[in-house]
Amino acid sequence: MKRAIYPGSFDPVTFGHEDMILRSAAIVDELYVAVLNNSSKNPLFSVDERVSMLRELTRDIPNVVVTSFDGLLIDYMKEIDANIIVRGLRAVTDFEYELQIAEINRVESPTVETIFLTASPNLSYLSSSIVREFALYGGDISKLVPEQFVERIYAKYDIKKRGAKN
Ligand code: ADP
Repeated sequence: MKRAIYPGSFDPVTFGHEDMILRSAAIVDELYVAVLNNSSKNPLFSVDERVSMLRELTRDIPNVVVTSFDGLLIDYMKEIDANIIVRGLRAVTDFEYELQIAEINRVESPTVETIFLTASPNLSYLSSSIVREFALYGGDISKLVPEQFVERIYAKYDIKKRGAKN
């Protein structure tokens, strides 16, 4: 049984993440898409919101499970009995950081393998931070995220803008 984990912030989920999920679910038996509950970041969406968006998105993929975790990834992997980490590589800028993380995980847990999928060329420019930046200034994000999330993302900024004025 090849159980893999695709960890990330998914704040918000993009077409890039969707592409990674579809591609990796096709090569492993079971894929855990796991939202990292990173208390040091100030997220746009709560962990619960991100988990439910990912569940909506992956509803029809039978071998995908969406969860969240905090603490060390390798500890969580022991809990769910997974030994493959899936990460995406968009550009050289991703490489250095990803290599470091993969190495430290290997040192800490030698049975864990990290596999990298290179970004699909038409999505290699896409990141959650680009989506947030675009949405903040009212840019068109319909080509960046699945349709059902577009309004939810704009709504976050409306709420924040109104909040700032009051
Ligand atoms: P993190 O904070 O862990 O980087 P992200 O949600 O930004 O969380 O990314 C999760 C994973 O998805 C990372 O491995 C990242 O490289 C990958 N990823 C994000 N966007 C894309 C994309 N457009 N194409 C391929 N992989 C992507």
